[in-house]
This record gives sequence, C-alpha cells and structure tokens, in this order.
Amino acid sequence: MAEYPWQQALWQQFAGRAQHAHAYLLHGPKGIGKRALAERLMALLLCRSPLPEDACGTCKSCMLLAAGTHPDNYVLEPEEADKAIKVDQVRDLVSFVVQTAQLGGRKVVLIEPVESMNINAANALLKSLEEPSGNTVLLLVSHQPSRLLPTIKSRCVQQACPLPGREQSLAWLGEALPALSQDERDELLTLAAGLPLAAVDLQAQGVREQRALVVEGVKKLLKQQASPTQLAEGWSAVPLLLLFDWFCDWSNLILRYQLTQDETGLGLADMRKVVQYLAQKTPQDKVLSVQDWILLQRQKVVAKANLNRVLLLESLLVSWSALPGNG
Ligand SMILES: [Zn+2]
Repeated sequence: MAEYPWQQALWQQFAGRAQHAHAYLLHGPKGIGKRALAERLMALLLCRSPLPEDACGTCKSCMLLAAGTHPDNYVLEPEEADKAIKVDQVRDLVSFVVQTAQLGGRKVVLIEPVESMNINAANALLKSLEEPSGNTVLLLVSHQPSRLLPTIKSRCVQQACPLPGREQSLAWLGEALPALSQDERDELLTLAAGLPLAAVDLQAQGVREQRALVVEGVKKLLKQQASPTQLAEGWSAVPLLLLFDWFCDWSNLILRYQLTQDETGLGLADMRKVVQYLAQKTPQDKVLSVQDWILLQRQKVVAKANLNRVLLLESLLVSWSALPGNG
C-alpha cells in the first residue's frame, strides 16, 4: 500500500484515534495521494488485529481486502473516468450501508471523487450520512470540496490533506522515477503544478515528449518554418487542455516579464528565450487580447464543448504568430 512521507503526521493522528467519526471528508488538490490515504485508513478500520499504527496485512479481513473480495467494504466511483456517479449507484450503496457487517466488524465505504455526484445522487447519499448505521465509516475523497453541497460537508469531519513541499516532492520523485535526471524531474514537477503524483501521471502520458514537440513547433512558427495548419495537425496527440494551459502560462510569463523585467521569472528553460523575445517585441495590449481569447477558449475546452480541434488550434497559432510587431 502506498504511503507518502508528507502524510505521516496526519496518518499518526488517524491511527491514534480511539474512536472514529461516522464520516470523513478528505480534501485537497488532485495528485497528492488522498486516495492512498483513504485506502490505508479503510484497511486499518477493517483490520481484525491492527498493529499500533497500521493494518496487520495478515488477518482474514486484510487478506479479503487485498484480494478485492471483502464483503464489508464498498468503493463508489464513476463507472467511467471523468463521468458522473449515478443516482442508481448511490442507491446500491445506501442498501449496502443498512446491511449488517458480514465479518462482524466495521463496514467502510470509500467515495471518490465526491463532487462527481449530481444533485440527485448527492441527495440520495445524504440519507446515509444523516442516519449513521451501526459501525459504518464513510470516507469521502474530494479534489474540489467547494463543489459539494453544504449539507454533505457539514455531516463529515473535514480533513485537509497535506501538500508536500517542493524538496519533499523531488525526493519522492527521485524514487518514483529513477530513470529521469534531476533536471527532468524538476521540470516535470513544474509541469504538474508541484503535485508529485500528477507528475508521475504526466510522465506516463508522455507529457515531456509532447511538451518538447510543442515547444519546437512554436519556435518554428515564429521563424515561419512551420504553418499553423501543419502544427495543429502535428499536435493531434497532445491533449487540448494541456495546450491551452501552456499557451495561457506563456502569455502570463510574457506579461509578467513586461512588467518586471525579471529574468528569473521566465518559466521553464525550454521557452525562456521565446518568452523574453515576445515580451520585448509585442505591445502589451496585444498580449492581453490574445490571453483573453485563450482563457475564453480554455473554458470551452474545460466544459467539453463540441469544438473543432484543428480549427481552434489554427486560430490560436495564427494569433500567436502575429504577436511580435505592431501589426
Ligand atoms: Zn489485519
């Protein structure tokens, strides 16, 4: 079971509790190990002969849990990634909660992410939160607690999960991704907004390679060695949201440099020279108007609007290539 050093203090608090709440809400940004913490707590709560600080790993309950056949644990998550948890799924959970524990101990429910429940599903869950059933503990995991109904939050013990510091993240990444160089891990962590588990996901998705492809393309675009259409087609494997995040980030860096002239604030090394060049060559109002457009399109991408990907990228690249100069 995964354990993260930055969770150690919080874990000791959980493990040291003589009594447990009926429901916990574990929240914090995606990519810091909340799910692993919830699973570790689930195992501890179900274990028949727990060690001072952890599940034993060898009792009947631990064996059944490891085999995925424990009768008294229930994991509720979207049937497909990024989709909603359906109200029918919550109804099944509710009937599990009212049953008696088959092994005679606790029952533990893990729900992740809680915000993927629509209002009907959330209301169906409320019943289980309002009427605690015997020895059941609910572990709710949320990346965006602000999206939850207040009635859900108020019925849980809310626990913010700690974020690792940069040094701690890099040390952990050193073990998780030993094949990368220190600089590569540092770059990856920046691309993942400082979230170490997200960095591992990005590496698995080939994001560093995609970034190299995009950066090379942007440089060619500005030298007029590649057309917007060629690039838009060549980037077909790069997630649209990631592209908009990067361009948004670069426009921010350009504006920041125009305001501060601070060479330490130019972002990742791969685009520093380009950012500096564009900041020197582009009127500020032009950067601002391109950035407005990028932010607007990014919202549509987030909302999963039906977009023509190639056309959208072409528009982005046409306005980006027109940045330098007064035209
Ligand atoms: Zn055990």
